[in-house]
Amino acid sequence: MKKKSVQTCLIHSDYTPPGGFGAFSPGIHHASTVLFENVAAMRSSQWKDKSGYTYGLHGTPTTFTLEARLAAIEGGSHCLLAPSGLAAIAMIDFALLKSGDDVLLPDNVYNPNRELGRWLSQDFGVTARFYDPMIGDGIAQLFQPNTKLVWAEAPGSVSMEVADLPAICRAAKAHGVLVALDNTWAAGLALRGFDVGADIVMHALTKYQSGGADLLMGAVITRERALNDRLAQAHMRLGYGVGADDAWLVMRGLPTMKLRFEAHDASARRVAAWLKARPEIAKVLHPAFEDCPGHATWKRDFSGAGGLFSVVFDARYTQAQIDAFVDALALFGIGYSWGGPNSLVMPYSMKAMRSRWDDAGLLVRLNIGLEDSGELIADLEQALARLA
Ligand SMILES: *Cc1c(COP(=O)(O)O)cnc(C)c1O
Repeated sequence: MKKKSVQTCLIHSDYTPPGGFGAFSPGIHHASTVLFENVAAMRSSQWKDKSGYTYGLHGTPTTFTLEARLAAIEGGSHCLLAPSGLAAIAMIDFALLKSGDDVLLPDNVYNPNRELGRWLSQDFGVTARFYDPMIGDGIAQLFQPNTKLVWAEAPGSVSMEVADLPAICRAAKAHGVLVALDNTWAAGLALRGFDVGADIVMHALTKYQSGGADLLMGAVITRERALNDRLAQAHMRLGYGVGADDAWLVMRGLPTMKLRFEAHDASARRVAAWLKARPEIAKVLHPAFEDCPGHATWKRDFSGAGGLFSVVFDARYTQAQIDAFVDALALFGIGYSWGGPNSLVMPYSMKAMRSRWDDAGLLVRLNIGLEDSGELIADLEQALARLA
């Protein structure tokens, strides 16, 4: 071929780096187009088959590597990445539900999951019904012939009730209904979803896996190939992709995740114990504390707790007073999410979020970050003084 012009040289290079490069950090592969060796290779390629590559959307070495590492944490065999935790939830619903089907969700479910259920009910001919998270094996009474999926989550990420997951999964299995577990709170560390009987385990990697409060991603993990294939079909049809840099950032977070989780856990228990002794606080909704519904279930099934818990204030405090307490905190940012290094605080209006909520006092959720717990307690103490 003729010598290439500068313009073409800017695009085509003959250089190939030597093979055999080894490093702990996996490479970051950016790609929409994936190149095929020849036409025959293109024709025989299968997007579903992770032994090869077809298009950036269906995976690169970076995303395949992250998927394998995430599946291993849960003891699963297959993993699909989604652009956010909520996108992972939507992938599961769209893969497994069709018009005429019924889905059950716990009344304390992650609120956007509830919103998606309502949308499916309103516009897609699916019925979404909400069950008492403490129902246990009583869920068997709710199954209809068209019930296809049960969502489970423990604890609820605001109200913190710990559901009896083994009982819910056993009842579902007996009725041939699939269980999808949102295991974001336990991160596959304090509880492994397949051990309690879930068929599908979903994570918001946005939280502990990332650990940086700087990206959004979700994962859907399964053990059975046929179930993974149904999910993968929805993944393809919905066009879910994740950026290579974000996938790499999650992998960078994984080696320290367990240590971070344990540090969050120890610090959160210290802060929660301090709050428990305060006269302003009516209840500490932390699964390791007896105030928390499902505490005994947590003790039986979980090995840890992480950094997230809620408190219910004494009923004498008004919303304006609670808001002033939240505003007075200096080390706690006012914001959604959790699992990052920074402590966060969020007041919730439970009566608006739940079909039934009996506590008269107002609820505030705390995410205990990685700051010094003594300094967090001092911050809470000065903010509580505003309530006097
Ligand atoms: C944050 C969260 C999600 C959603 O994750 P995003 O990445 O923010 O969409 C889902 N479930 C639970 C329990 C969560 O905490």
